[in-house]
Amino acid sequence: MKTAADFIRPSSLAAIAQCPGRPTMEAAVVNLEGDQPDSPEASMGHRGHEIIGRNIECWRLSQEPGGLGKGWDDIIAQAADEATAAGMSSWDAWCVRFCLEFARDAIQKYGIEADNVLVEHRMGMADLGMAGGTADLILVVPFKLVIVIDWKLGYVEQQEAADNDQLQAYGVSASEEFKTKAVLVYVVTPRAEKEYRVTAGKFDAKALEESACWTRAVVARAQSPNPELAPDYSACVYCRAVRQCPAVKEHLVNTQEALAVLGTPATPEAWGDAIGAAKLAEKWGEGWKEAGKAHLMSGGQANGFKLGAGRSIESVANVPEAVAKLREAGMEAEALEAASISAGKLTPAARAVIESYITTKTSAPSLVASKRA
Ligand code: SF4
Repeated sequence: MKTAADFIRPSSLAAIAQCPGRPTMEAAVVNLEGDQPDSPEASMGHRGHEIIGRNIECWRLSQEPGGLGKGWDDIIAQAADEATAAGMSSWDAWCVRFCLEFARDAIQKYGIEADNVLVEHRMGMADLGMAGGTADLILVVPFKLVIVIDWKLGYVEQQEAADNDQLQAYGVSASEEFKTKAVLVYVVTPRAEKEYRVTAGKFDAKALEESACWTRAVVARAQSPNPELAPDYSACVYCRAVRQCPAVKEHLVNTQEALAVLGTPATPEAWGDAIGAAKLAEKWGEGWKEAGKAHLMSGGQANGFKLGAGRSIESVANVPEAVAKLREAGMEAEALEAASISAGKLTPAARAVIESYITTKTSAPSLVASKRA
């Protein structure tokens, strides 16, 4: 039996600050329906995290006395092979590589000894009112600085590190655990535009204290009896309760009625409200569509709808090698197509050259209208 406390997590702090009732609702829905399967983005993120963590740990262990002393080039190549073997697309594999290169550069830049590289480090957060959280990578300069690094593999947009509530909470715990007065946090988002791929924030003792107070206040509101439900796209978008939440339904109806009465929004704020409600309605609809698919896949019926066939998606694995092969064969234009990861536009001759690099996946079945009642 889940309770609200199970859903008060560092990664959800920003959403809980907006909607204090979110953990209570998530617990109620999960108890009723079971937890939802991970989205494809989240699954890819988990696989990528595992490969990155395992390979940084492999580097660390190999630096120990008697270890193999593996260099980063070997580690990064090994991770690329693992990503390909795990069926990840070339862009996903590139994201893994980007994170490993970042870890390598940070370890070198801050002169971190291998013993002070902590992968998937579990941090207790009882002082903040939470069960704890796991930081992707922690680098420690003993008694001076702790660096907390978070990989965001499945996301394109992310809160910048300096405003990231999850990392601030990690920072509070890390400064306590490692007895440092300063914490540096990095959010690494390989899919973001170049200038936003790595963002950093530094917190001194005063900023950490303020962050600790804010976090405790957010947790206390979420644990109060009958905490408020406050629908908002940013809070609801990843909430497990979005499909069932009465506050979301009311919000969508109210917005729709307001637009019907007032017409086109007249202010930036009103436009923001309308667009936010529209995006929330999309999310609500997606939730029901996925639930409908699961119902049909488990043998259920829904008048007027059936499952369509999954689509076949081709991509190029290990792009650098595939591009090199095409260049060797004098196919520069085709090499550019291969570098775009999509295999769909390759000529038959280019396909023949890199056939062994083309992987095929089948997407989940779609929901299609059916004439059958
Ligand atoms: S769906 Fe939105 S309003 Fe409802 S509990 Fe979740 S975050 Fe709060």
